[in-house]
Amino acid sequence: MAATAIVLPPTTPPDYHRIVSPTLAVPSDPNVSIPVGLLACQRDPLLKETTTTVVSARLVQAAPQPKRAKKNKAAASTEPLVEVVLHDTVIFPEGGGQPSDIGVLTSSDGQLWDVREAKRTGGHAVHYVKVGERGADAALSAFAVGSTVGVALGEAGYYRRLDHMCMHTSQHLLSAVLENTHKLDTLSWSLTEYPTPSYVEIPRALSPEEIAAVQAECNRYVFEGRKVHIEVEELDTEFHQGYKPASVGIPLDYAGGVKRVVIIDGLDRNPCCGTHAPTLHNLQLFLLPTTENLARANSSSARLYFLSGPRLITHLTSTHSYLAQTAKTLNAGAPQVPERVQQVIDERKRMTGRAEDVEKELACLLARELVKEKTDESDAIVAYKHRIDDTPNALGFLTAIATAFVNELATMPSPPKSYLVVFSSSPSSQTTSSQTVVMLFGSDEKKVKEVGDGLRSKLSVKGGGKGQKWSGKFTGVWLDGREGVHVRELLEFSA
Ligand SMILES: [Zn+2]
Repeated sequence: MAATAIVLPPTTPPDYHRIVSPTLAVPSDPNVSIPVGLLACQRDPLLKETTTTVVSARLVQAAPQPKRAKKNKAAASTEPLVEVVLHDTVIFPEGGGQPSDIGVLTSSDGQLWDVREAKRTGGHAVHYVKVGERGADAALSAFAVGSTVGVALGEAGYYRRLDHMCMHTSQHLLSAVLENTHKLDTLSWSLTEYPTPSYVEIPRALSPEEIAAVQAECNRYVFEGRKVHIEVEELDTEFHQGYKPASVGIPLDYAGGVKRVVIIDGLDRNPCCGTHAPTLHNLQLFLLPTTENLARANSSSARLYFLSGPRLITHLTSTHSYLAQTAKTLNAGAPQVPERVQQVIDERKRMTGRAEDVEKELACLLARELVKEKTDESDAIVAYKHRIDDTPNALGFLTAIATAFVNELATMPSPPKSYLVVFSSSPSSQTTSSQTVVMLFGSDEKKVKEVGDGLRSKLSVKGGGKGQKWSGKFTGVWLDGREGVHVRELLEFSA
């Protein structure tokens, strides 16, 4: 008999969302907006879409900018948006450290409208809908109060949510283990942008052994597949005021009237408005093996980075691919990569040191040659030398020769009275965009300036100088029979 398998879409268990107060109910009047804390995305985090009613809609220029994403959203800040409040929604408005979902609304005429983000205003979720080319009037008539609309996460929105949900529930697990077993409070946490690791901030750094122990304990609960559920009741003011305003607390401007607690069976109870996976099953947690120390004025704390769910898979895939590529380049097995890279770095340091020594020696020899070549006939050295050199720092080498040249003159019992020297250095293969470095130095500042001016006007060398030195760059093909001739003429004229 052939094996058969029915793969059902994952659904949230019916006992996930528990209203533990006899007087609290999810508002059923379609003209009323369900408060944040009781939204469909919070009652049923695996629900991808639903049908609901428009409670209000108005045109705005742009959604208020979240503090953490100011830079990225600067460009989008002027697009017209419609603020839509719905009776219910599967689109989570940011909160509890969890960023907003994105999604799609379907108006009753079948048109699709992108939701850029949702935000909690007081106790209600406001959807920021992109107006686009259809214009504000079309958007406002599509979202007339009382009309029926579809609200969905869409494919991109669902994957974004899944990632946020896995990271957020893993953070609750991690914070619970840190607190219960290691007596370390979570001072803050950040659900960073996908796919970078998120972190919890704790009062002190952890050793790699401690981190491994925390990870092992967390993953024991993951393998057990501990259940997660939500308990909701009316917010009593005493609780609200007494709770410390940390990232896990209830925001001070929250007016939804609902106290919501996320429970990991037998492990943790944490007030939070986020969307949480109904079980730890499959939320394997990976902790980066070193904490990052944070030194602040009055305290020190550390960040512990973590990954789970889709983000962990992405991380494994990309790090594996980096490692495999590097191993292939080094022609080594992955375990040998760190050692081989160290060898390559050490070797390169040695080679760089050797090249520097050789360059210095060569600069002295070239300078000496220049001095010898010219002192036979006259009391002045006037010279032009062209070099072919593929170094990225041609000017550095020319400067080294110039320095050696001046040092060489200083050692002579009767040095020449004056000197005026031009060096040029081109790459071995030249094109119209190649750059030739030109350097000029001499004993007479006036002559240096004169030849420099000539290089600029006759050869379009871009550069300048001060005192006895001048340097610049020439773009194009430098030929000895063309540019070189001009340089010699300039020197003859000035000498
Ligand atoms: Zn939370």
